[in-house]
Amino acid sequence: MGGWKEHRWCWGDLGLNEGVLREGGFGNILDDLKGRLEAFEGWKEGKDSVVWRGNSESIFSVSSCYNFYDRLRIPFGPPKKNDGVFGFLWKMDVPFKIKAFGWRLFRNRLPTKDLLLSRGTPLSLDNLKCVLCGICVENLKHLFFSCLVVKNIWREVALWVGKVGIGEEDGLENFMNWHRFFRLKKVKERKLGVVWLATNWTIWLLRNGVSFRKDKWSINDTIWNIKMIVWRWTFCGKITHSNFSFYEFSKDPLFFLS
Ligand SMILES: [Zn+2]
Repeated sequence: MGGWKEHRWCWGDLGLNEGVLREGGFGNILDDLKGRLEAFEGWKEGKDSVVWRGNSESIFSVSSCYNFYDRLRIPFGPPKKNDGVFGFLWKMDVPFKIKAFGWRLFRNRLPTKDLLLSRGTPLSLDNLKCVLCGICVENLKHLFFSCLVVKNIWREVALWVGKVGIGEEDGLENFMNWHRFFRLKKVKERKLGVVWLATNWTIWLLRNGVSFRKDKWSINDTIWNIKMIVWRWTFCGKITHSNFSFYEFSKDPLFFLS
C-alpha cells in the first residue's frame, strides 16, 4: 500500500489495479483519490499505538469508560408507574430466594406451562391446563391472580389482614395495591410486601406439589400455610416483637408486622 522513504510517506498502488480501473471508467475517481492522499500532510514516522479517546488526558480509567458508555445509553423513555416495585422488593425482610422468586414473577420468568410450551416442551392441551381450576391454560397472570381458585385464596388472605378487595390481575399493580394497604396500616417498611410474597410463594409451591406429586390440598390448609410462612418471616431482619407464638400472630398479624 505504501511505505516511508527518507522520512516521507510514499503511496504505492493502494492495492488497486490502475489499468483495470481506468478501463472500467474509474480513472477520474482514482485520480481524485490520489490527489487527496498526496495533499494529506502531517504524517509522522513511527509505530502504531493505542490511544484512549474517552477523556481529555487520553488515559484509560474505569470512570471515563463508564461515562463513555453512559453517553451511549439509550434511555427507556419516561419513568413508568411501577418502576419502584423492584426497589421495594429487594428491601423486604424475606429470604433471598423469595426475593428472586418475586423478581421472576414480576418479569414473567417463572416456568409456567405457557412459557414451557413456547420454549419447545411438548404439552398436550390437557397438560397445559391450570392444575388448580382444571379449566384455563396456565400462564403467570392466571396462576397467581385470575384463577377462580386462587382468587378465593386471595380473598381469605385479605380477610385475615382486614383488607377490602384483592387487587388487580397484573402482578406489579397487584403488588402495589397490597403495598399501599399495608403502608396505610403502618406496617414496617421492610415488611410491606411480606404477606403478598408469602401468598404467591405458597401458590407456587401448591401448584408444583399438585403438578408433580399429585398432592391433596384444600384452601383452608393453603391459608394456614401462608400464615405460617408470614409468621416465620417476621423473624427475618430486625425483630421488634419477641416471644410471640404463631397462635398470637395469626390472631393479629398487623400488630406484629407494624
Ligand atoms: Zn386456574
